[in-house]
Amino acid sequence: MRLAVSVTNSALQQKLHPDNEYLLVSERPAWQLLERLYAIAPSLPHYLFRRACRLEPCTQRAPVVDWLEGNGDSIGRVIDVDLRGDESQSVRSPAFRRKFVRGSATETQYELPPEGRTTNVVVFDLNVGSLEFSDTAELADTDAFTAKIFRRMKEAGARVGIGRYNEARLLYTSDVFASRGGENRTIHIGIDLFMQAGSPVFAPLDGVVHSFANNRAPLDYGPAIILEHEFDEGRVNFFTLYGHLSEDSFESLYPGKPIKRGDRIASIGAPPTNGGWPPHLHFQITCDMLGMQGDFPGVALPSQRDVWLSICPDANLILGIPDDLFPAPSLSSDQIIESRRAHVGPSLSIAYRKPLHTVKGFGQYLYDAEGRRYLDCVNNVAHVGHCHPRVVEAAERQMRALNTNTRYLHENIVQLADRLTAKMPGRLSVCFFVNSGSEANELALRLARTRTKATDIICVDGAYHGNTAALIDISPYKFDGPGGAGAPSHVHKVMMPDTYRGPFKADDPNAGHKYAADVMRALEEINEAGKRVSAFICESALGCGGQIILPDGYLREAFAHVRRAGGVCIADEVQTGLGRVGSHFWAFETQGVVPDIVTIGKPLGNGHPLAAVVTTPEIAASFDNGMEYFNTFGGNPVSCAAGLAVLDVIEEESLQENALKVGAYLKSELEALKSKHPLIGDVRGHGLFVGVELVLDREPLEPASKQAAYVVERMKESGILISTDGPLHNVLKIKPPIVFSNLDGDRLVARLGDLFAENFLNSL
Ligand code: PMP
Repeated sequence: MRLAVSVTNSALQQKLHPDNEYLLVSERPAWQLLERLYAIAPSLPHYLFRRACRLEPCTQRAPVVDWLEGNGDSIGRVIDVDLRGDESQSVRSPAFRRKFVRGSATETQYELPPEGRTTNVVVFDLNVGSLEFSDTAELADTDAFTAKIFRRMKEAGARVGIGRYNEARLLYTSDVFASRGGENRTIHIGIDLFMQAGSPVFAPLDGVVHSFANNRAPLDYGPAIILEHEFDEGRVNFFTLYGHLSEDSFESLYPGKPIKRGDRIASIGAPPTNGGWPPHLHFQITCDMLGMQGDFPGVALPSQRDVWLSICPDANLILGIPDDLFPAPSLSSDQIIESRRAHVGPSLSIAYRKPLHTVKGFGQYLYDAEGRRYLDCVNNVAHVGHCHPRVVEAAERQMRALNTNTRYLHENIVQLADRLTAKMPGRLSVCFFVNSGSEANELALRLARTRTKATDIICVDGAYHGNTAALIDISPYKFDGPGGAGAPSHVHKVMMPDTYRGPFKADDPNAGHKYAADVMRALEEINEAGKRVSAFICESALGCGGQIILPDGYLREAFAHVRRAGGVCIADEVQTGLGRVGSHFWAFETQGVVPDIVTIGKPLGNGHPLAAVVTTPEIAASFDNGMEYFNTFGGNPVSCAAGLAVLDVIEEESLQENALKVGAYLKSELEALKSKHPLIGDVRGHGLFVGVELVLDREPLEPASKQAAYVVERMKESGILISTDGPLHNVLKIKPPIVFSNLDGDRLVARLGDLFAENFLNSL
């Protein structure tokens, strides 16, 4: 209405001021939008409004579904195979019926087994989180996809492969299926029947030809036919849609042509004519053609899922494939939340106001259950990219052969130890393998204690080192936070070497020296209490502390103080190691130091639980005091295979160099953003370990914590995952898988820029 008023006004204005060109310019976009809106069938917004009112969106649906349910007996076959058949002859999925299969894996033509001899149908899981079709590269390669479909059918001995109705599909998450709003049409609203090209297609009911067309991208149905059916004197009216047909199917068709149940109306198209897809019939019911002719969406936007499911009832109302052949649906987000509440410890937190239900990861992307793709800017566990095929394959292959403990000889553990220690400077030549960052730090503390025969620990304020009892004791992030009980008497906190918020700023060339003096103070405190220091533990760049980059000289001086007092120096590289900082493989190297003990965690297994402690032969020897160190899972062949693959990928894909290059670019773009938006107080980082601190003012740096939380939520809504950190929760942390690209950085910064340009400050 507003656009109509606007163009009417401008028509009037033009009459009054015919020379004013500007009036024409401002009118054009209004007409463009009106034309776009005009192309939408009025019933679609009608259905969307009905959904908003919690009514069944499509008004024609109920009589259609009732009629189909009541007239199952008068419905014929759509293909030349009995889909309703004897349930006992069918299988749910190849996984349920393991057979020994010989033959070529790349076969793309498939010989049908004779009907009834074995099973008729196999139901595929093409969901976003499918464990069967999870390889995005394979899905993008239509030949490989076709080969796999036929291979699976062969394994199951099935005559028809079924692609399900109401399924959010991974293969529709690519950019090809993106809509104007950036959302992908991922929800399949018909049923696919995978069969050999050329298989006949029959009309299951009497009707007339409504329309037909050869649909190219983006719908990509290839040739499609739509029949119209009317029963009970016109009270029941619906359409059936047949897509991906062969081109010759249109011969002798004309709109309005009467069709009888059982008439052969078409045959299934081969890949060259059907958009490159595996040969299949896309079969769909629709209660409303929405004014379209010859084409109709076969996939819908997740945000309109229930509206399209209402317009297009389950095509199985006609096909009649037995329900129990379909696997039980996955749990919904609400069911998972409810079950977590009942049976999972409540102190495990869930991120985001509307929790993210992730089912798939690939590279720097995570996908939710509806197929929405998120740029993951915060996951430093999936170091070389989510589900990196090399790592997955390495672990999977080893898992098939052997997984056992380190009491038996196996080459993987020594290979990984060789490779890791080769990356270490100085005398850091002995490894222990464990299962988590926490376990690594816990062992580091034990090593330090046996070495020094002392127990006091110096840690940095704001730090987190892990979840065990001993590590909570040395993690101010926890013991000073909610539920914490403060520092125990053997733990001594030193100030965070934070050159933005701390007393010594970035422009002070002696800041490192001055912060290290606080370590000296802690040592004196220990000495005055008549005790000795065991270890100083410090992350090589502070993660939970707020993505803080240590000032020059800090670790060098702090280490010197500690060693002079007889303590050992532990570098916690759980977040920062393995090339993330770009300029060096380990972040401690940026400080020009060699620690006595290095702990490595998250990135080493790329999501597989693998962590390590690397130390000197002397410290390792002190620990060998007669008490055996045994770790059931630490260093097992599967974990080590994953770790070796991670190291290979970092090298072969030059990911450390990538972190350096992309990190520098990202930082400079964020700096540019900072100059435009006063809310950004500081941008800091090393490689792909980056922090953006938000403040309400430049003096006294009042933290913009609410704003940071708000930004994180809004970024998630637009498909980008970041998070906050720091004791004041006002630092946006960015530490993506290190396959992150400049383009990803552009996307992140552009979206942050849009958000900061919004005037949300006062409304929070
Ligand atoms: N050290 C640091 C610096 C960490 O960030 C973490 C985990 N966030 C840990 C240790 C503990 O690692 P994990 O969760 O693997 O036990």
